[in-house]
Amino acid sequence: MKKLLIIDRDGTLIKEPADYQIDAFEKLEFVPGVFTWLGRIAREFDYELIMATNQDGLGTDSFPEETFYGPQKLLLKTLEGEGIVFSDILVDRSFDQEQLPTRKPGTGMFGKYLSGDYNLAESYVIGDRITDVQLARNLGAQAIFFNNEGSESAVLRSTSWEEIYQFLKPKRQATVNRKTSETDIIVSVDLDGPTDEKIDTGIGFLNHMLEQIARHAGIGLSVSCQGDLHIDEHHSAEDVAITLGLALKQALGNKAGIGRYGFALPMDDCQAKVLLDLGGRPYFIWKAKFKREKIGDMATELLPHFFRSIADSLGANLHIRAKGDNEHHKAEAIFKAFARALRQAIRQEGTELPTTKGVI
Ligand SMILES: [Mg+2]
Repeated sequence: MKKLLIIDRDGTLIKEPADYQIDAFEKLEFVPGVFTWLGRIAREFDYELIMATNQDGLGTDSFPEETFYGPQKLLLKTLEGEGIVFSDILVDRSFDQEQLPTRKPGTGMFGKYLSGDYNLAESYVIGDRITDVQLARNLGAQAIFFNNEGSESAVLRSTSWEEIYQFLKPKRQATVNRKTSETDIIVSVDLDGPTDEKIDTGIGFLNHMLEQIARHAGIGLSVSCQGDLHIDEHHSAEDVAITLGLALKQALGNKAGIGRYGFALPMDDCQAKVLLDLGGRPYFIWKAKFKREKIGDMATELLPHFFRSIADSLGANLHIRAKGDNEHHKAEAIFKAFARALRQAIRQEGTELPTTKGVI
């Protein structure tokens, strides 16, 4: 179902003059940021744009039509140049005292949008008057109040189009709870940060490595694991990796705009190279040898197992190569390089899917 952004004109897209009437070209002044940020909203997000405006007494002697349409056409043409196109323009011409149902906050002009073809609950009315907020309520939509004071019922109060863009931007977050007879794990990721980590797997070394992932990938990451450590650390390490892969996959959504590929780095005597493709097909190559059986409280044989599990559950092609003498450095270099590769791969750089196939 289609979602709407119903946008007021005067005081929201353009500044409202002292006499509340844009009836001359010299009165036309755009609100700062509207081109950049409403342009990005129009191009990047999935909303149908509708303009809805009360123009008191339009067509009467006090506001002749021809004085309205010149500036209005220029306004529409200018916005169109930035990719901002309204699929519908609703203008009510009545005066407040007439109390007509077409005048905002009345829904008289919105008949076709009430038919059930639109997802009004996830649609927004953006406007600078309290009547815009009331219109949102009357439509069963949400209100963004383009004003810095009043209206507690609005979901956002702001006169910054950039803030509105950030608010409407789909969140790349996910929380996955995976429970088996061996482990009970909750992983939360936020790909757009802030960088933050809260990690408790029960395995000290793995906690330290997961902190590297959060820090170097620049993501928010929280991991909690209740596992059967009385047996050994195998199930916990494996299942944390699976759940992390699932959470990353879910947070990536349709992957639009991501960098997709990802890194090599040195760490003292060691070097690690991690090649990553978030293309959807799991594949795993591991070329790293460890001489010690354990690093801290974690078996080194679990390192390839950990990354293979992520590759499988994330749907990633993951190649890891590392060499060097110090085992702790080598492991840490791998986790850091993985994190850096992930950082590149998940970064949103535009809106295009990074493939010619139409889906990844
Ligand atoms: Mg207004």
